[in-house]
Amino acid sequence: MNYTKLLKDYNLKVTPQRIAIVDELHKHGHMNIDSLYQVLLVKFPSISLATIYKNINAMIEKVFVDEVKIEHKKSVFELSKKDHAHTICSSCGAIEDMDFSLQNLMKEVASSSSFEIEKTSLCFTGICKTCASK
Ligand SMILES: [Zn+2]
Ligand SMILES: [Zn+2]
Repeated sequence: MNYTKLLKDYNLKVTPQRIAIVDELHKHGHMNIDSLYQVLLVKFPSISLATIYKNINAMIEKVFVDEVKIEHKKSVFELSKKDHAHTICSSCGAIEDMDFSLQNLMKEVASSSSFEIEKTSLCFTGICKTCASK
């Protein structure tokens, strides 16, 4: 994937650090700030947590990256894609995308409330296969 072009398409300044962040998110799907920090340290030994946050926030602002908030755990970040729900393992924190459209749910909420709904996030918590087989 051409990350340079991708970042430019979103009006984001292209830096080696940003390209590396996009690359890692692309490879891993969902990552929290600590795991991002760990992998980026290998390439950029002097990178700070603050720099990563700054870059991530700039990308969230352009809706290029999404933050998934998880109860009692650190948020994870992913490259933005169509609205989708998540399943999260309450034991190991593994997170998966669910091929489940939130559009109908949002329409339903909109029709039964006085709000114009813009976005939603939905997380299902449970035990993943790996943890269940332990
Ligand atoms: Zn698990
Ligand atoms: Zn996701």
